[in-house]
Formats: sequence, structure tokens, C-alpha cells
Amino acid sequence: MRDRGLSEEEVMRGLLKMRAKDLSYDRIFSSMCTPPHPIALKAHQLFQETNLGDPGLFPGSAELEAEAVRMMAELLGHPEACGYLSTGGTESNIQAIRAARNSADFRDGNIVVPRSAHFSFDKIGDLLSLEIRKADLDGDLKVEVGSVEELIDEKTVSLVGIAGTTEFGQVDPIDRLGRLALDWGIPLHVDAAFGGFVLPFLGGDWRWDFSVEGVTSITIDPHKMGMATIPGGGLLFRHPEDLERLAAYAPYLTVARPKALTGTRSGAAAAAIWAVMSHLGMEGFKEVVNGCMALSRRMASGAKEIGIEPVIEPVMNVVTLRMEDPEGVRAALLGRRWRVSTTRSPKALRLIMMPHSTAENVDLFLGDLEDVLRKKA
Ligand SMILES: *Cc1c(COP(=O)(O)O)cnc(C)c1O
Repeated sequence: MRDRGLSEEEVMRGLLKMRAKDLSYDRIFSSMCTPPHPIALKAHQLFQETNLGDPGLFPGSAELEAEAVRMMAELLGHPEACGYLSTGGTESNIQAIRAARNSADFRDGNIVVPRSAHFSFDKIGDLLSLEIRKADLDGDLKVEVGSVEELIDEKTVSLVGIAGTTEFGQVDPIDRLGRLALDWGIPLHVDAAFGGFVLPFLGGDWRWDFSVEGVTSITIDPHKMGMATIPGGGLLFRHPEDLERLAAYAPYLTVARPKALTGTRSGAAAAAIWAVMSHLGMEGFKEVVNGCMALSRRMASGAKEIGIEPVIEPVMNVVTLRMEDPEGVRAALLGRRWRVSTTRSPKALRLIMMPHSTAENVDLFLGDLEDVLRKKA
């Protein structure tokens, strides 16, 4: 640190210079995040100094957290579900599996996850000393229930299903996993970090949330499709005793038994989540999700017109395009200022249609993609 501080103008100049290096979201198809809804920004600013780690000092913020949790519980098919707001999908997954592990009376357990699970589960294996067993996927990239069953044994502390996989946007057969979990008497955690704010608004009769008996906990990320500010995550449990398993004792705080993984945590996230959900309501979110799905169909059918097939028909607002050399195509598109990502198995270009995506950019992108592919051929 320098001896003598800079003036506010000098600091601001430094910040703006760096901010200009950051990308704006409009040409980004690789991210599951999006600019927060304007009302989330206002809420965030209003609550930026609050600390939910010490909720007795900020009872208003704590009430917003409780209400945001209640709204998400309703959204996930079980208004009585309990939980808290985390820093995101990674923390929620860690805590869900930690609760499951703590319900077992041994520490050398394992969990069975789909091969398509988010990389946070590899961290979980390391942190909680659990063996991570990866079940095979079927041709549609959903987990094979038979493969899950083969990997279960008496040391399995949890099953995991994914409602909206990070790479392909696929939804596992959660109802069948639920039956398996009940048969074996093991918890089933559903990772809906991305899908949590998509699937409830798609229509159709998806069975993936607490309405499936056997589902014990769900991860949902407001800072992805929930358009809240970062960091905004959610974790919900069907049974209060599972949340209790996360409690620690804190003698000097205004809450005796905090459940979050982090200590100090911002009430701004709670305010932002509460604000967006209250403001948009079911109708508003349906509109947002419909828009993203319409763009996904436009992207997929436009790709077909230039001879590229999607790996799966878009289930959610994730479009993956099968190709030989997605890395090369990604690099060429980068030269045209598009940010896309790739998948490895099967090899594909991965595109996410977020609230910031526009039909105009989808069409411009498809034009550039066609050009890039023609030049490579
Ligand atoms: C994004 C994502 C996560 C991780 O969430 P973070 O908020 O980035 O920690 C976990 N699971 C799935 C399915 C995801 O898409």
C-alpha cells in the first residue's frame, strides 16, 4: 500500500480504466450470469453495509432473507421448506452434502453424482473427505438410473441429481432418483443452481423439485437466472433437522446457532433477491424465461440451417452445437468479439441464452459462425 493516499478522482480514474477492460455482457454467450435487474441494484445499494452474520443487529435484512427463502420454497413445491441464502451454487452444494454426511454415523462415506455434475462436487469430495462416484449418462445426457444404483452401497451418504446441467442444460430423471433414494433410505440432493429459476416457468409437467418424494434438499442460484446481484445463492431443505445439522455455536453473535458456511455475509444479496422476486412475480419471470427459450430455439434452428446439429434439442436456455473442433471455432469467434464456451464430451460449442441476449445478436452471431466454419472447411 502507498504511504499517502490518492485523491478520490485518481482512485476513480484507476477504477474506470480497469472497468473498461471488463467485457460488457451483450456479446457473451458463455456465461450463466447476466446484469442484475435494475431493482436488484437499487436494493443492493440500500443494504450494502448490512451483515446477516449478525442478524440481531439487522432484523429487517434478516426478515428479507426469511421471506426470500419462503418465496423460493414456494417456487420449489414445498412452502414449508427451510434454508438460507448462500454465496452461490458451490456453497449450497457443499452445505447440502455436509448435512447429509453429518446425518450418517461414519465419516468415510461416498456420494453418487451424475458424470455431468458441476465441478463443485470435486471440491466437496476433497473438503468433506467423501469419495465422489460418477454415474454414467444416457444418450440424451441424463444420468442413467441403473448406473446410479450400481454405485450405491452402505457407505453412500447422498445421491445427487441435476435439474439443468451446467454444460448441456439437461434435466436428470429426478422422480426415478427419488424412488431410488427412498428405497435405500438415503437423501437426494437436487442441484438446480441454473434450472431453479428456469424450470418452474417453462410450463409442462416437470417433476424435479420437492413435489418428488425423496428429494431432501435443493440448490438454487438467484445470481444466475434470478437476475439478483452476485453473490446470491439459495439452499433449501425439506426437513428442519437437516438445516440444524449445519449449526455451529457462536457465543458473541446475536444468533446463537448460525447455519451458513461463511461468517460475515451481506444482507445486500437478500435484499436484491427479495426485490427481484417481489417485482417480477411469476408472470414477470415467465416472460423472461420465455424470451430466453425463444432465443434458444432461434439459435438451434439457425444452426441447423447452416448444417450444424444441436447435441440435444434445447431443454432449457442452453444450446450446444456438435462439431469436430469447438476449440478452434471458439478461438475464431473470439477474433470477432464473441465469447462462447465449449464442452468436451461430446465435443460442442456451448451457448447460453440469458436475459441480456437479443435476437439481433443471435442472428449476427449465426452469420459469423457460418463464416468461420466456411473459412475452416
Ligand atoms: C453454476 C452452477 C453451480 C455453481 O454455482 P456458483 O454460484 O458458480 O458457485 C453448481 N451447479 C450447477 C448445476 C451450476 O450450473
